[in-house]
Amino acid sequence: MIVMKFGGTSVQDSTAIRRVASIVATRLAEQPLAVVSAMGGVTDKLVQTAEVAARGELSQALELLQAIRARHILAASEILVQAEANRYAEELDARLGEATALATAIAAQGALTPAQHSHMLSFGELISSQLVAAAFNALGVPAAYADSRALIITDAHHPAATPQPGPTRARLLEAIPPLLSKNLVPVLGGFIAGSESGQITTLGRGGSDYSAAIIGAALNASRIEIWTDVSGILTTDPRICSKAQRIAEIGFHEATELACFGAKVLHPATLLPAIEHDIPVAVLNSHKPNEDGTIIRATAAQGPAPFRAIALKRNISIFNVRAPRHVGSLRFLDDLFSLLRWHHLPSEIVAISGATASVAIEGSRDLGRLTTELTSLGEVEFQPDMAIICLVGEDIRGRVGIASSVFGIMATAGINIRMIAQGSSEISVSFVVEEKDAVKSVQELHRHLFEEHSGTASRTGSTAMETAQA
Ligand code: ADP
Ligand code: ASP
Ligand code: MG
Repeated sequence: MIVMKFGGTSVQDSTAIRRVASIVATRLAEQPLAVVSAMGGVTDKLVQTAEVAARGELSQALELLQAIRARHILAASEILVQAEANRYAEELDARLGEATALATAIAAQGALTPAQHSHMLSFGELISSQLVAAAFNALGVPAAYADSRALIITDAHHPAATPQPGPTRARLLEAIPPLLSKNLVPVLGGFIAGSESGQITTLGRGGSDYSAAIIGAALNASRIEIWTDVSGILTTDPRICSKAQRIAEIGFHEATELACFGAKVLHPATLLPAIEHDIPVAVLNSHKPNEDGTIIRATAAQGPAPFRAIALKRNISIFNVRAPRHVGSLRFLDDLFSLLRWHHLPSEIVAISGATASVAIEGSRDLGRLTTELTSLGEVEFQPDMAIICLVGEDIRGRVGIASSVFGIMATAGINIRMIAQGSSEISVSFVVEEKDAVKSVQELHRHLFEEHSGTASRTGSTAMETAQA
């Protein structure tokens, strides 16, 4: 069997859903299972619904839910025959009735619990997956809706729960093979899950990719396909560089590094189950299904340049902590990381030199309290509005001159680097710049490292490096 995941833009309206049905129809011989996201933009609207309800603005929350209803009703009416459209409208209204009750409870409390937040966000995938299952049947692809809340089992952590592979596998193995053996395409909502005790959870924003990988690993899929709005993983985000190029093949570890450092095309945890079970993952464009995408596998053939791609992660803060002379470095670092753990703040990049530690973290929330606590460890300097740029490539391992070429480009562009990290695994070089310089940095690096030699099929790593050093 194979798992096919369709993201928000791939199911955003009736035209997109028709396209998805025709893509799935080409794979029926491989026993596909479809994982679908909420319609594009719906999860953001549900976040807004929960937030306005918590501020007591219930009528605004209900208007948002009505707008979501209207989008789904319209798509259903454009695909389904009247009787099926009516049946879907009943299911939709039952779900949105629950969402309305939830919004009402949140507004009455005047506050939002993390569990209520997950519950509200879950409605997007619930109503899209029921619609897509009905649409597949109407469009000649025999399908069966299956409820991810009962099949993907997680702990009860919000907003991003941790999947429990044992119970998840057991539930999926009970529910899915009987559907496949009847030649039905199971359709599941991505992103949503449930705890053993029946609490509704989510896998965190962008988590439908992760759902697909969890299901693929549990059912021993021969391939996982991530269908999105770009033709595979590109050398950088095409919204930043219009000349970003498709990467034909990339390694598991390279793709994971890119995802961790901001390449939104994949949720960072997606590849873990695929790596464990050695399942190839393809990233494909649902708007242009005939275009080649990217194949992610354990080991990938080396491309023409030493770097495979550039990722950008915004909304980063850094703080530098200088320990007093009399404190031993082991105790200082132990205290520092205990404090970060206590604040649930994973560090993105850490640089330690002598008595000073620099830590880059995501966001700038709640840092007032953290900064105060850090002062008990030493002198603290806090710098918000930063971004991390990460260049990834297995082929940089052991190459001389990689760092100097990258930082040469940055120096020529007149951009100041605030922090640098190159791990000993040496598949990436990451550094921090001010957020205002981030886009220009990526564009300059991309121009030198990927564009100037594009079209020269024989481009080698060294020519790309020579360009970089020019
Ligand atoms: P979906 O809704 O299908 O999950 P996402 O919006 O989550 O889609 O991810 C696709 C987007 O990821 C693209 O539209 C693109 O802007 C962004 N992106 C960031 N970095 C990359 C990259 N290196 N390659 C391709 N897309 C990227
Ligand atoms: N709908 C969810 C989100 O927007 C999950 C996903 O699309 O992957 O974050
Ligand atoms: Mg996504």
